[in-house]
Amino acid sequence: MSGLTPDQKAAMQTACRHAVSYREGVSDRPIPPREDLDAAVARFCAPLAVQGQGGEQVIEQLVRDADGGISQMTSANYYGYVLGGSHPVGVAADMLVSAWGQNAGSAFETPAISGMERAVCNWCLDLLNLPASCRVGIVTGATVANTQGVMAGRHALLARQGWDVEDKGLFGAPQIPVLIGDAAHSAPFAALRYAGFGAGRAVRMATDDQGAIRPEAFKAALSKCTTPPLVILQAGQINTGAFDPFSRLIPAVHDAGGWVHIDGAFGLWAAVVPELADRLGGMENADSWAVDLHKWLNAPFDAALSIVRDPAPLVAAMSARGAYLPETSDQWEPSDATIELSRRARGVPSYAILRHLGQSGVREMVARHCALARKAADELACVPGVTILNDVVLNQVAVSFGDGEVGDDLTDQVLSIVQKNGLVYPTHGEWRGRRIIRISVIGYKTQSEDINLLVSEIRAAWRQVQGGGT
Ligand SMILES: *Cc1c(COP(=O)(O)O)cnc(C)c1O
Repeated sequence: MSGLTPDQKAAMQTACRHAVSYREGVSDRPIPPREDLDAAVARFCAPLAVQGQGGEQVIEQLVRDADGGISQMTSANYYGYVLGGSHPVGVAADMLVSAWGQNAGSAFETPAISGMERAVCNWCLDLLNLPASCRVGIVTGATVANTQGVMAGRHALLARQGWDVEDKGLFGAPQIPVLIGDAAHSAPFAALRYAGFGAGRAVRMATDDQGAIRPEAFKAALSKCTTPPLVILQAGQINTGAFDPFSRLIPAVHDAGGWVHIDGAFGLWAAVVPELADRLGGMENADSWAVDLHKWLNAPFDAALSIVRDPAPLVAAMSARGAYLPETSDQWEPSDATIELSRRARGVPSYAILRHLGQSGVREMVARHCALARKAADELACVPGVTILNDVVLNQVAVSFGDGEVGDDLTDQVLSIVQKNGLVYPTHGEWRGRRIIRISVIGYKTQSEDINLLVSEIRAAWRQVQGGGT
């Protein structure tokens, strides 16, 4: 007997057919959604019918109803935020992840998934130049990966002061000073809140014009720590792509008995390109790292790696089994390294993408994005009235128009025209007091001709704004 009713089979086949035709046609669509949130909510949020509907019919209608409200984030011309483009080979594997329905929290019950996920962890450690002995948890995103790194650090630092935080909690615990750059992403601040440190309690160290921590500010902050600190560094500032000076900072933190966590959500991937790896020099000496798979590796949402040098504090902080048994390699249990107990086989799409691209494909992609970001910056810099606010060392470009407050208004106008045209889609930001258009070159598909279109769209919008029309 078939495991599927004819209607269930038709529902799955219909979804698959629509998935393929959506991705085939994605470049012909305007990038922003055609309709707004209110329209979508009004259509979807009807009362739930008493009687159910056929599965195939549900899927057909779902596709029709969603059509106007989908943003083309997988397009080669999407430059907004910092988002990967969901590589189709990863998407294909993700369909199987759902179909298999594996609860990937248990290695014993789902050996094939654990095998693939361990391969992903090993390959990524190798690609990122991190020690093979690190322990890795596959989580939903860098926000959770940062939280896990902070919680592992919390465990280790309090244990050094004789306090078992997993048993006693934070009330009455010894102090742990927290140091972080003032140009850090909001995610590690959220991590500090989630882990009970409080975001406002962290000492924010001054950064240079690119957002990298100033060594003097670091030295001054470190010298005030009376107990071993948690220090959060960054690889890849969101507006500039800048890296903190790891080799200068990390040894001093360790001399003070502290823990170094690096938020490398996208920037850590620079390690795969030999010409860029120098800028990351010393980052391999940190204690924990957060890096997304759904950004630069272009895995479908959502996936990231929480990496720690010493497995014990992470397992102590995360294991839902209660006892912090030191792991041996044959006890590698996925749920011991993640906040989640039950979870989907989140690493499998990345397994497929990594096998598809190989080491050279990953290197080529990251190097290409950085070269294309430089090309966009160089070409835009030639346009009168346009300023590139960052040194384009990675894949991020911060663009402003005109001067001062008037310029901020002009920048917003240019962005609005570009986004409405819908052929290319950068998004907004703010850098060093200026409104910016931020360009993130990170989609697996983006090539040189796409950058030509991006530049010509921005130039045309700027001409239009200068001509007084919006
Ligand atoms: C995107 C990003 C994050 C948050 O990652 P999510 O995957 O959205 O949770 C954290 N830090 C930096 C630098 C980022 O770019």
